Formats: sequence, structure tokens, C-alpha cells
Amino acid sequence: MVKTLIILSFLSTFILCCGTASDGNTIKEPTPTVTAPKRLQSKAEQIERFTHDFPVIIRTTIKFIPSFASGVAAICDRYYDKITISSEWWDNPNISELERRYLVWHELGHCEMDLNHNTTMNLHVKNSIMHPVMADLHEIQEMAQNPKLDDFSREFFHTLTEDDLK
Ligand SMILES: [Zn+2]
Repeated sequence: MVKTLIILSFLSTFILCCGTASDGNTIKEPTPTVTAPKRLQSKAEQIERFTHDFPVIIRTTIKFIPSFASGVAAICDRYYDKITISSEWWDNPNISELERRYLVWHELGHCEMDLNHNTTMNLHVKNSIMHPVMADLHEIQEMAQNPKLDDFSREFFHTLTEDDLK
């Protein structure tokens, strides 16, 4: 059975600041400090990082397509052990690394652990990353504190660092 995640997308506003520095003739210009841009990780490298701590050996194939017409973020095909992820969702600058990791674990929960969706809530906080609607960042932070998490979700949160949850 095909399971899907529903995501919300947000509009973003970018403000660019620029300025010029004036320099007098008597002052030697300082040597500019160049900071190399952080190299962007390929999707394969990101997937490798997100699957590293997964509790079982992963046999599922993970691939990307440009987008789904339905707007979902990803689909797990349990029959073929194949996860397909929307690049449109993945590459959205509003999506955090934590949410990408969450998505990969959710889909692997279907494909590798044979888990179905878990819709239970505890005080309005999702108990499981197998909830069909992906938690937002605030909810993920709350879930990390939720003592009623199921085992699979607890495994997920054990892989996170303090920085992931900031
Ligand atoms: Zn799902």
C-alpha cells in the first residue's frame, strides 16, 4: 500500500543587504578574508547521513523525482522496497535538515520496518514519526520531550543531537 506524507509549503522572503566601503589613499587595503562557501552535500550524501543510524540494514532503494503531481513529499512502495522523494520538497530552502531526516525515517519505517501510520496523539503532540501528517519543526521539538513515544520514534530521537532540536 502506498503511504504518503502531506506537507505544507511556506512562502519565503529574502532580504539582500549590500554596501560599499570607502578607502582613503593613505590606508593600505586589508587583505580580504575569503571564507570558502560550505560545500553543498549531494542528495546521496544527505541520504547516507540520514540512514546511518537506522536500526536495521537498509535494503530499500531511495530515488528522487522532480515532484509529485499530488504534492506529497515522498512515497514508499512496500512491494518493491522503493522510496521516491520529491526534489521539489527536498530542495525547498524552507525545509530543514531535521525535516529531511524525519521524512527519510518515516518512509523507511514503512519500507524497512513494515510500519503503518500511527495517528495517536498525547496532549495534542504526535506520539510517532509514523503519523501521516509530517510534524513541523515546533512539533518535532515537542515530540522529542514526549515520554509516550513509540519505540521506533524513540530510536529516531536518540539519533538526534541537541543541535538538531534547536
Ligand atoms: Zn507514511
